[in-house]
Amino acid sequence: MPRPIIDVDECSGCGICVDACPEGVLDLVNDVAQPVNEDDCTACGTCMEECPMGAITEIEED
Ligand code: SF4
Ligand code: SF4
Repeated sequence: MPRPIIDVDECSGCGICVDACPEGVLDLVNDVAQPVNEDDCTACGTCMEECPMGAITEIEED
């Protein structure tokens, strides 16, 4: 399954990715974005495209 990885040192806590994700995968935890429903991630790439900090990458996991 794919899942988004947030670089917490780059994340500004803006919340754009939280609002942009159509699957509700992301939420702000202690002012940084975290995947809270990562099983729902469809690897659509929207969060990576929308993040102004380039803080999101995606990895594929079995
Ligand atoms: S869009 Fe980027 S900078 Fe903003 S909360 Fe999400 S990961 Fe952090
Ligand atoms: S890749 Fe798509 S479904 Fe997965 S966390 Fe990002 S916006 Fe949500």
